[in-house]
Amino acid sequence: MASFQPPDVLLLGPGPSPVSRRVLNAMARPTIGHLDPRFVGMMDELKELLRFAMQTRNALTVPISAPGSAGMEAAFVNLVEPGDTVVVCQNGVFGGRMRENVVRIGATPVMVNDAFGTPVDLEKVDAALKAHPGTKALAFVHAETSTGVESDAQALCRLARDHGALSIVDAVTSLGGIPLRTDAWGADAVYSGSQKCLSAPPGLSPLSFSEKAVVALKARKTPVQSWFLDLSLVMGYWQGSGARAYHHTAPINMLYALHEALLILQEEGLDAAFARHRENHLRLKAGLESIGLELLVAEKSRLPQLNAVKVPDGVDEAAIRKRLLSEFGIEIGAGLGELAGKIWRIGLMGAGSNPQSVDRVVEALAVCLA
Ligand code: PLP
Repeated sequence: MASFQPPDVLLLGPGPSPVSRRVLNAMARPTIGHLDPRFVGMMDELKELLRFAMQTRNALTVPISAPGSAGMEAAFVNLVEPGDTVVVCQNGVFGGRMRENVVRIGATPVMVNDAFGTPVDLEKVDAALKAHPGTKALAFVHAETSTGVESDAQALCRLARDHGALSIVDAVTSLGGIPLRTDAWGADAVYSGSQKCLSAPPGLSPLSFSEKAVVALKARKTPVQSWFLDLSLVMGYWQGSGARAYHHTAPINMLYALHEALLILQEEGLDAAFARHRENHLRLKAGLESIGLELLVAEKSRLPQLNAVKVPDGVDEAAIRKRLLSEFGIEIGAGLGELAGKIWRIGLMGAGSNPQSVDRVVEALAVCLA
């Protein structure tokens, strides 16, 4: 055996997105101790950078040492107890995973289902919350990566608040690509992933809890089912000005990468990053239309960072993806769940959202479909 040498692939799928040389270089810096005061100083900066990206002043804002799925699980296991009711919105694959989390806790999910490719219907959510007084939380996916749909997070957080429920927001694909205003929208638990619009490698999940969520955590009648994800323990390591208590060995070099990726976002500015994602999405849409391809999602709910493209009748979608990867060095995604075989998913996330990426994928698709 020899050292693994991965090929250079243009990552235009649903994540991971391209990681810049600057972020990779940050990861290659010397590993130091995770309780070294200089590392602890970097952790404090990282929390501040996450607050900037997530638009919040929440004290409990940390990267969970595991991928987005762990951020999801952390939000549910810390806020939901056995016997609670949770309204879960499902308009794609990831809402289904939220349901799984609720069931495994021993709580009751009340499902609000919408067709894959459409946003969460606010009236149906309002009706579900009205029909289930005392609901503990409303959970929804802001940016459904499986379909390319944006739901109205601000209105959903407001509905949760109006009905006395906490809001749990999946922002895995939204963070850094479209506005995510945690405080202004009154979101209570927001989690994300490092590998989408932040363009760091996968493996970390930024998570933020509002004061209200922290109060709910402290008021639990039962211990958090997961030891590793129990935020009251995690905070002993991530919070406080003095000595930090050992909880687990932090993924030190991964945290360097996230720190660097967030610095890049700060240098660009949030509004500029959102505008760039939008412009490149429009360029892609025009390019796809020029070769006869159509987007799945209605214009007003389209995510700029995840484009669901209808596979034309009679085309073997898997063969095209295979050819894009082997001949053109470009990765795009397949459809998931009920959209499997029907769409391609072209991600223009973070460092991948630029005119060169758009032109390369459109030109390659044109060749493959000719
Ligand atoms: N939620 C959404 C909306 C996602 O797109 C993903 C991953 O694609 C996840 C959760 C899970 O994240 P991870 O794959 O990092 O565990």
